[in-house]
Amino acid sequence: MPWFSKKNKQIEAVPAEERTVKTENVFVKCEGCEEHLFARELEESLQVCSHCGHHFRIGARERLTMLFDDGKFEELDSEVISIDPLEFTDTKPYPDRLRQAKKTSGLPEAIINARGKVGNHLVLAGAMDMSFIGGSMGSAVGEKVTRLIERALREHGAVIIFSTSGGARMQEGALSLMQMAKISAALAELDQARLPFISVLTDPTTGGVTASFAMLGDMILAEPKALIGFAGPRVIEQTIRQKLPKDFQRSEFLLDHGMVDAIVDRRELRTEIIKLLNFMMNPEISSNSEMERLRTRTASGS
Ligand SMILES: [Zn+2]
Repeated sequence: MPWFSKKNKQIEAVPAEERTVKTENVFVKCEGCEEHLFARELEESLQVCSHCGHHFRIGARERLTMLFDDGKFEELDSEVISIDPLEFTDTKPYPDRLRQAKKTSGLPEAIINARGKVGNHLVLAGAMDMSFIGGSMGSAVGEKVTRLIERALREHGAVIIFSTSGGARMQEGALSLMQMAKISAALAELDQARLPFISVLTDPTTGGVTASFAMLGDMILAEPKALIGFAGPRVIEQTIRQKLPKDFQRSEFLLDHGMVDAIVDRRELRTEIIKLLNFMMNPEISSNSEMERLRTRTASGS
C-alpha cells in the first residue's frame, strides 16, 4: 500500500496569459543615485527620487495636471500644427517625421496649451514636451505660445510656460527663428498690460527657447540640476578653447550668476507658483502700480 494516495482530480492548469509575472514598469532605476524605486511611489512623489531628489523628465500633460487646481484644465489650440513650408528632407522627409512624432508622443505638437485655475487665479499655461522632435520650436509652437499670451491679454490671466527644448526646429529654418521675435513682442504687450509671466525652466532648456521667452519671465524658476543654456558645452569649449567650470549650464550655476530667480523642487512648485500669483495678481498691488505708472507718465510729460 502506498503511503500517499493520488487524488483523482488533476490540478487545473493556469491559463498561459495569467501565468506570467509582470515585473516591467514596477521598478525604475534612478539616474541620480542608481537606487531602484517603486514606479508607483515615484508617481506619488511627482517623478522625483525620494533618496537623492533627482528630477525625472516628465511629459507636457503630466506637467499641466500637476499645476492646475484638482488637475483640471481645458486644452487649447490643439489644431495648430506645423506644415512643411520648405519641403525639407534630412534623413527622412519632414512630414514623415511629424507624423511619427505625433504617433509616438501622443501629442499634437511639442507644446500643449491649457486654460484653468491655479490657486483660483486664471492661468494660461503652456508645457513643452521633449518627446515631440526634441521639444523643438517650429512655427506651430511659436504660434501656440503667442496665442497663449494674447489670450491672457484678452482674458486678463497670468501666463506660465514650462520649457524643455532642444531649440529652434531646424526643419523649418528661418521660420522657426522668427518665432523668437514674435513671442518676445507678444510678451512685451503682456508686460505693458501688467500681467505676469512665470517661466519655469526644466531639464533641458536650450537654444532658441532659452534665447527668447524662457529667459523673459517676470519670475524665472528652474528645477534642480536642469541643463539650461544656448549652445552645448562642447561647442562652447571648441569655440573659446577654454575648459568650462564644473556644473556649467546647470540651474545652480545659473542661480549663482543671476540668470534665474529661484530653484524650486517640483514637489514645492505648485505651492510656490500660487504664492507668486497671489502677489502678482493681487488687484491692490496691480492698481497701485497702475497709479504709479500714470504718475510717472504725467511727471515726464509724455
Ligand atoms: Zn535617486
